[in-house]
Amino acid sequence: MKLTDADDILISGAGIGGLTAALALAKIGLGVTIVERSPQLEEAGAGIQLSPNAARVLVELGLGPQLDIIATAPASLSIGPLSSARTLATLPLQALAARHGAPYLVLRRADLQTVLLEAVRKSPDIRLLTGRTIERFTASNDGVVANCRTLTDQITEHQASALIGADGLWSAIRPSVGNAASPFFTGYEAWRALLPADQTPGGIAVDTAEVSLRLGRDCHVVLYPVNHGQFLNIVAVQQARNARELRTRHDWSHAGLPAELGGLIAQAEPALADILKAVGSWQVWSLYDMPVANMAQGNVALLGDAAHPILPFMAQGAAIAIEDADTLSRCLAQVHGDRTRFGEALARYAKLRQRRARKVRKASRKNAKAYHTGFPWTLARDQVIRLLGAGGMMRRYRWLYGWKKDL
Ligand SMILES: Cc1cc2nc3c(=O)[nH]c(=O)nc-3n(C[C@H](O)[C@H](O)[C@H](O)COP(=O)(O)OP(=O)(O)OC[C@H]3O[C@@H](n4cnc5c(N)ncnc54)[C@H](O)[C@@H]3O)c2cc1C
Repeated sequence: MKLTDADDILISGAGIGGLTAALALAKIGLGVTIVERSPQLEEAGAGIQLSPNAARVLVELGLGPQLDIIATAPASLSIGPLSSARTLATLPLQALAARHGAPYLVLRRADLQTVLLEAVRKSPDIRLLTGRTIERFTASNDGVVANCRTLTDQITEHQASALIGADGLWSAIRPSVGNAASPFFTGYEAWRALLPADQTPGGIAVDTAEVSLRLGRDCHVVLYPVNHGQFLNIVAVQQARNARELRTRHDWSHAGLPAELGGLIAQAEPALADILKAVGSWQVWSLYDMPVANMAQGNVALLGDAAHPILPFMAQGAAIAIEDADTLSRCLAQVHGDRTRFGEALARYAKLRQRRARKVRKASRKNAKAYHTGFPWTLARDQVIRLLGAGGMMRRYRWLYGWKKDL
């Protein structure tokens, strides 16, 4: 067994949340080790929207120039029915960004992961150990001692003053903070694909200026450009047909058979249906949810999906993980590197973030109902969207996109 030097912070999981947390903690002068189960970091899942509340944190971490290169800032988000090309309302994303002082971006998740990884690798205060899983750990007021298993079945021991579980939906750290909740299957599944621009039907140019949200019965579709219009990112969310099977399955992403999307495609207006039919390969995610419960106990805390998976009806899961990272570093900065006070800092972090995550989770669940409702409720929903218009929507979501910091 190899004993490593003691770190300030040990992070389990190098997803968007874990990597951002490492950068934020290194920025305040803490030494961080990240242990990541996968031997290589491959970010599946096509595209991602980064709203101003999250983009601000990344810009403050110095990643603005890299984001400028890899991301697109669309002009607007248009909302309309799946069954027609009508627009009910348009949210001006660049005005939203200007109002909140940070960009609204769309990009490939793999590109975001690469930018975060490069920054992590450049930091002398962060060590990234891939192909390692925390098997067990003991935590006390003095810190944490964790045993990790490598891919070659060696056990390494890591000491740190605090452990952050950023290990995603099926977190192994979660039970240790007194959080007995388990994710439950919601009945929704998300189909994701990237369609190369030159494969769009009839060579339709990918509109780099727009994110499009189309609402159907028990389903919706989101489209946006990534790689500056070289690809169209497509997310189609529908009620899962094989709900019972998925409910018991932890392998939550698999290749999708296009025929299973037939009902949704049948609802879509012809141009959109053609786009959906042109997709060669879909990846499907079963969508899980979980109430927000304890996020910290002693010197152990949770971050991102490990603490609060959020349904993607507001595109906020990664954004809230990025916010978590910011607040975590601010809370630890407040105790000035005093390791004896890390538990106090984590308790403060948890309290602040539980409140925020609950609010975002609730709003996402509410959107899930509204997006997928059927006739005649669609009449009322569409009327509300029309009446709200751009100004109303900007006001309605000021609390979300206008977030700047928790303290
Ligand atoms: C269809 C869909 C669309 C979405 N769109 C958006 C969007 O547009 N905008 C947005 O903000 N969010 C979006 N999200 C949500 C977002 O993808 C997640 O909330 C976010 O990726 C969570 O990041 P994370 O770092 O917390 O967890 P993860 O990305 O799950 O990372 C966890 C990491 O921990 C590692 N790990 C797991 N177990 C262990 C272990 N025992 N030891 C060591 N390492 C371990 C994993 O390998 C992984 O690398 C979407 C989600 C879905 C399903």
